[in-house]
Amino acid sequence: ASAKRAGKLWRLHTQEAGAAINLELDLLSELDEALRSGNIAVLYQPKLNLVTRRIDSVEALVRWNHPKRGLLPPDCFIPLFEERGRLDELTLAVLEQAMDDAKRWHSDGLHIAIAVNISAAVLTSENFETRALARIAHSGLPAEQVTFEVTESAHFEDTAEAIAMLERFRAAGIRISMDDYGTGQSALNYLKLLPLSELKIDRMFVAQVHTDRGDAMLVRSTVQLAHELGLKVVAEGIEEAACLDFLTEIGCDHAQGYFVGRPLAANDLAALAAATLPASQPPPLVSAA
Ligand code: C2E
Ligand code: MG
Ligand code: MG
Ligand code: MG
Repeated sequence: ASAKRAGKLWRLHTQEAGAAINLELDLLSELDEALRSGNIAVLYQPKLNLVTRRIDSVEALVRWNHPKRGLLPPDCFIPLFEERGRLDELTLAVLEQAMDDAKRWHSDGLHIAIAVNISAAVLTSENFETRALARIAHSGLPAEQVTFEVTESAHFEDTAEAIAMLERFRAAGIRISMDDYGTGQSALNYLKLLPLSELKIDRMFVAQVHTDRGDAMLVRSTVQLAHELGLKVVAEGIEEAACLDFLTEIGCDHAQGYFVGRPLAANDLAALAAATLPASQPPPLVSAA
């Protein structure tokens, strides 16, 4: 994990380690203010239902609209906050924003389900369960409209505790999705142990699925396996029409990626979701974010 962090720091700040450390200290001390002032923004990346050809769900993706440093992507600050035990606050803020936006969409007649990324460390942090369930209950939307995306490569510090927590969320109606499926260490083990509703196949296997026979076999058999286990499948990283067509053909349930739509602000998402997408057609509205 520290090698990964080092790599991130390297990309983050090119000059010297000192500057990177200063940046980290700044960001840590600025989180509270950012949460208060609304500089933590949530974008929504659409998921296309491959049966109905409609956008019926979205993934909430956090951004930090930093007054001095510009728009910061999650890789700049999520690992930092996770390491310093501050990621639960940020996650709850994202969940709260997502529930507010979902509530607005629903009252406008758009029935869009929400997925939020939950790191394993947050899952078992103190009071997270109570506070997360309170925010979902407060929205008035059914918990079945909420998915927690848990990444397979995440370190389950205490696996038994994390699994117990996932089971409680599942019992409350929340859907559990295994994010970045295929890239982690013990995929089959997690399939057996976790109370999953969905597999989200990593874009590493998906992006070239229409041209690479090996990827095609892996994705097709993963979809079959998931369906036999009673799980839905989302493929991430669709950047081309041919890729979308392949996934439709093999019976994948949902598709997500730049071809379907970039992460969008809540208002732009509403316009996209109102349309139906015919096969092989790019979505009617794609704006970069
Ligand atoms: P992820 O959950 O696997 O999210 C998908 C990431 O892939 C997003 O990057 C998205 O913009 C990008 N992506 C989507 N479609 C395509 C595509 O077609 N091609 C390519 N090349 N990329 C695509 P983003 O927003 O930078 O998020 C990166 C990661 O940060 C996420 O990976 C997620 O693990 C984490 N993250 C984001 N928001 C949160 C959050 O609120 N809480 C936590 N714990 N993690 C978050
Ligand atoms: Mg995700
Ligand atoms: Mg993912
Ligand atoms: Mg991913």
